[in-house]
Amino acid sequence: MAAVVCLGEALIDFVAAESGVGVGEASGFLRAPGGAPANVAVGVARLGHTSAFLGKVGDDPFGRFLERTFAGAGVDTSGMVFDPRHRTGLAFVSLAENGERDFCFFRNPSADMTYASAELDHACIQTGRIFHFGSITLIDEPARTTTLAAVATARAAGLLLSYDPNLRPPLWPSLPKARRTILSAMQHADVVKVNEEELVFLISQDGNLPTEDVSGGERDALAAKLRRKFPNIRLLAVTSGARGSSLYFGDGGQISVFGLPVEAIDTTGAGDGFTAALLVGLIENDRAVADALVVPDQNILTHILLRANLVGALTTTRKGAIPALPTSAEADAFSSA
Ligand code: ADP
Repeated sequence: MAAVVCLGEALIDFVAAESGVGVGEASGFLRAPGGAPANVAVGVARLGHTSAFLGKVGDDPFGRFLERTFAGAGVDTSGMVFDPRHRTGLAFVSLAENGERDFCFFRNPSADMTYASAELDHACIQTGRIFHFGSITLIDEPARTTTLAAVATARAAGLLLSYDPNLRPPLWPSLPKARRTILSAMQHADVVKVNEEELVFLISQDGNLPTEDVSGGERDALAAKLRRKFPNIRLLAVTSGARGSSLYFGDGGQISVFGLPVEAIDTTGAGDGFTAALLVGLIENDRAVADALVVPDQNILTHILLRANLVGALTTTRKGAIPALPTSAEADAFSSA
């Protein structure tokens, strides 16, 4: 039985050995396990709570490596599926000087795209308290139908539904299609986490990717607009990278905190670390889940946001996502330092 059940893609990131070059120029790559929902499952386990990962990988050395990694971190992997015909997805990533990422994906198709409804572990979902999913498995069939079937099972079993779209433009046939599909899944979510870029892309008039940071006021207005469009979203988290993060809840409630001054080495997985801590916060504060955030407690939510902001920041201080996700002891040590 896992408190947080995460469903989605798991893949290998090959991270360029040197910074400041494009993927095609890198002289070598370091293998790193990845996939946003899988990162969240590991993040939750590191923070001391039970989690499960549901998804499909290739029955190949990389798929087996992913399973070992997740299980080694304490994640329940019994619902993972291994595809004898399709390979584990690969993403080659290089880091620019400022820590931002350049991607090149190998998924033609990869096993995660072929995840079928018949392969879904409904029992695993039904025993959880929070179901977390993303948008990468909404891009192609049959993974899309499978993801929505999992959402329906979670809803029927009374779990809190958490959604992080995790926009990856190169994976979508077009940006308008990405926007439509990502927004269509918002109607199923109680808790949504987006970064600022995703918020602007999803809700601004022109539907383009933003070219510059928005002001705090613009971000608040866009967050309010998203919540008006989807009143089912009871808790909206917006992350702003080094500038911090915000929660929007209740009838116009809002909390914002500044980013922590850490030495960021690699921002991969920061959002996933943030989400893991957010979900753990909801579980640890039974009231927050029990009331299903209908009557949100500002003090509890402030405490949860500070912790998620801290875990996000700590995730940037080491290379890779999974190796960088902190334990609760590491997060405690940082807060009391
Ligand atoms: P995503 O990885 O989804 O794009 P962000 O980059 O916004 O998400 O990062 C998520 C959270 O991680 C931020 O809200 C912040 O709390 C923390 N974080 C990210 N980058 C930094 C940084 N350079 N310094 C401090 N905290 C950071």
